[in-house]
Amino acid sequence: APGLYLVATPIGNLEDITLRALRVLRTADRIACEDTRQTQKLLNHFEIRTPTVSYHMHNEGPRTEELIEQLKQGARIAVVSDAGTPGIADPGGQVAAAAIAAGISVFPIPGANAAISALIASGLSTESFTFHGFLPAKAGQRKTALEALSQLPHGTTHILYEAPHRILETLADIESVFSPNQQVVIAREVTKLHEEFLRGPVSNLRSQLATRATVRGEIVLLLSPTAAENPTATQRTSIAVEVAALMHS
Ligand code: SAM
Repeated sequence: APGLYLVATPIGNLEDITLRALRVLRTADRIACEDTRQTQKLLNHFEIRTPTVSYHMHNEGPRTEELIEQLKQGARIAVVSDAGTPGIADPGGQVAAAAIAAGISVFPIPGANAAISALIASGLSTESFTFHGFLPAKAGQRKTALEALSQLPHGTTHILYEAPHRILETLADIESVFSPNQQVVIAREVTKLHEEFLRGPVSNLRSQLATRATVRGEIVLLLSPTAAENPTATQRTSIAVEVAALMHS
């Protein structure tokens, strides 16, 4: 059927593409790609010859209009990002919203996603989770963002994307904003050859990673829900103050 197809592609292992994704990519009129060269490798591997067009952060606006015009004329357009699910910390959301506004059908073609893959193997609670995408790159803003996150209701697992060259600084911030005992999981290179899950208190993972010459690869960082028995630094101070007040009353 004509319409916009948001197609998930692998996050590292080429086997993680669905049969439906391959069929949609093969039969679409065109594929809008975050990076045409990146997607071309995937298309070559599966011998798919559909024409591609670039669709990224810097041309999302004008390109959206162009794609909507083609969709109005009955085209079948697939949208892919470099890896994983389009629209999740990636381009795709804007064209989906514009298509819906124009009365065009939008079809999700589900598949790989780094956040969900990391979450299900993290061992942390999957009952409630909150996805935050990337933290701000600047140190001050990152700490403010983590403080805001620590104020969110307890009982939800936090999922973040982080760059390998910033992971140590971010862990240090988590240790000071939450606590050295805050349970975290680092999911690195998920689905790839060097896949690694590190689980434990943030202070332990920090010292473990600090012994490495460099930290490479793609990372999902997860924080366990803060429970009553695992209070944050601020909460602990106020509990201590309350206890002291009781003892003196
Ligand atoms: N749309 C993608 C998805 O569905 O997961 C995410 C795109 S975002 C620009 C890229 C970030 O996702 C990386 O910096 C990393 O934090 C995370 N990521 C992507 N692939 C990963 C993998 N194989 N292992 C761990 N993290 C990954």
